Amino acid sequence: MLKKTDETYFEGEKESEKPTAVIIGAGFGGLSAAMVLCEKGYHVRVFDRLQTVGGRGSSKTQDGHRFDLGPTILTLPKNFEELWKRCGEDLNKHIKIEKLNPYYDLRFDDNNVVSISGNKSEFEDQIKKFAPNDLKGYRQFMRLSERQYNFAFSKKGSMGRSPMHRLWDTLKVLPRFALLRADRSVYKSAASYVTNSKLRFALSFHPLFVGGNPFTVTSMWGLVNYLEHKFGVYYIHGGAQAMANKMAEKIRSSGGQIKLNTTVEKILTKENSAIGIQLGSGEKISADYIVSNADLQNTYNSLLGHRKKKRWTKNKLDSKKWSMSLFVWHFGTSKTGSKWKNVGHHTILVGPNYKKEVNDIFIKGTLPQEMSLYVHRPSVTDKTCAPKGDDTFYVLACVPNLSFKNDIDWQKIEKSYKEKVLNVLERRLLPGLGRSIKTEYIMTPLDFKERYLSHFGSGFSLEPQMFQSAWFRPHNRSEELDNLFLVGAGTHPGPGLPGVLASAEILDDILPEVKNSAEEKAYSTKKNIVQV
Ligand SMILES: Cc1cc2nc3c(=O)[nH]c(=O)nc-3n(C[C@H](O)[C@H](O)[C@H](O)COP(=O)(O)OP(=O)(O)OC[C@H]3O[C@@H](n4cnc5c(N)ncnc54)[C@H](O)[C@@H]3O)c2cc1C
Repeated sequence: MLKKTDETYFEGEKESEKPTAVIIGAGFGGLSAAMVLCEKGYHVRVFDRLQTVGGRGSSKTQDGHRFDLGPTILTLPKNFEELWKRCGEDLNKHIKIEKLNPYYDLRFDDNNVVSISGNKSEFEDQIKKFAPNDLKGYRQFMRLSERQYNFAFSKKGSMGRSPMHRLWDTLKVLPRFALLRADRSVYKSAASYVTNSKLRFALSFHPLFVGGNPFTVTSMWGLVNYLEHKFGVYYIHGGAQAMANKMAEKIRSSGGQIKLNTTVEKILTKENSAIGIQLGSGEKISADYIVSNADLQNTYNSLLGHRKKKRWTKNKLDSKKWSMSLFVWHFGTSKTGSKWKNVGHHTILVGPNYKKEVNDIFIKGTLPQEMSLYVHRPSVTDKTCAPKGDDTFYVLACVPNLSFKNDIDWQKIEKSYKEKVLNVLERRLLPGLGRSIKTEYIMTPLDFKERYLSHFGSGFSLEPQMFQSAWFRPHNRSEELDNLFLVGAGTHPGPGLPGVLASAEILDDILPEVKNSAEEKAYSTKKNIVQV
């Protein structure tokens, strides 16, 4: 790291009293990092190229319908509460979050529905009906899930909530990994406890929520079963955007700055240190620490395209397994508030040939003939997301990311693919839907690439595979440069709101504390120098 007396200020900049941190990106990773660093005593500046904060968790309002573009399911709200508490605030005073019941409905191709909820006896009653012989195995599986959660994510210092940039930290947990059979896939793990195909699906599909192939990602993802069961599945009133807005307010009221509509073009370096950023306008901004919440390939091979890489070269990152992409169809329907009474907040329509479908998407890179769909209908819980009597929906289909050489041209097939999705919806869940739609907005892999600069248009960055996790994943403390840190879905521990929040929590462990104003002053020994 450069000594603080080095000449690293740019033209027009003033000396800062506090250590300065620049954060590239105002997704949930960047926002939670900003909250942590403001609280730690840093002068924080956040830059995002979008018009709003929240990144993938932002929303768009159209014809009176609020379309939440990303996260719809909040798990582990206590981790958000902890973040707010450390900043001296009670989250619940700022945001209304509501526990859902049921959490979601799984609708299978034979029209059977399995409802997942936190009510153990209700769920076991369902199992007794459709898979009575699996009850014992289910209970054993849930005990494993609890052990996985306790080991990997239950508290600060657990594997998923502590820095993993030293190889030794990963090596020393390998025996626990072996005991928990982390070498198996989450599907294989479920299948070793229960025989019923519906139950196997119910216990193992969760990685799809964060971009992972349930037939290949580590069984540690089975922990989601326990955490959902124990702590619940929640909805954020006003959508994830409302949470992001409140986080931004908190950052500003703590003295941090957030600049939107501003693209960072370059991370400026000197010797082996990151010393600042350059914006699209050409303006240069110095910082003692740079935290990137941007896509990995964007960070390492665009923003740092001028540097030779030690580890994360373009080819190396390209060769990693990237999460799938998504086709997301948002629509508002007219006068349907009292229609489709059996359709709740979250429904998963499981396709008839689920294993083949996942294989097509993740391995072959083709569009499956028959699709599973996730249907979000927030208007049953939150009346603010649609005009009175109307409904707001989003329907999500997993599709291959853009790394595959195939003939999928999303510009050409967007409309026909939507018709295919409509067909499934009308047949299986929402009869007469086509006639009720009054407004719509579609996102294809091209939008993920364009809007979030997401490599290969992936929905969730690197897939959370075992050998792309912990030490194997790009580190929170960059391997490439001193003073550069990573937060968000691409770094440890991985995608999903609890994961990206944990990546910011980890900054707390790896960036120095600034305790009082005397120290702040002592820290600030730089000269105001006009230089590039
Ligand atoms: C459709 C969908 C549904 C999901 N559902 C759930 C769910 O229900 N529950 C859950 O927990 N998770 C869910 N996820 C996952 C979760 O949303 C993500 O893992 C998480 O939001 C990622 O946050 P992030 O901060 O890592 O990245 P992002 O949200 O992508 O934020 C990165 C930000 O950086 C900005 N940026 C990038 N490059 C630059 C640059 N050069 N200059 C300036 N700004 C830049 C981008 O504009 C963006 O705002 C979902 C994701 C998607 C896509």
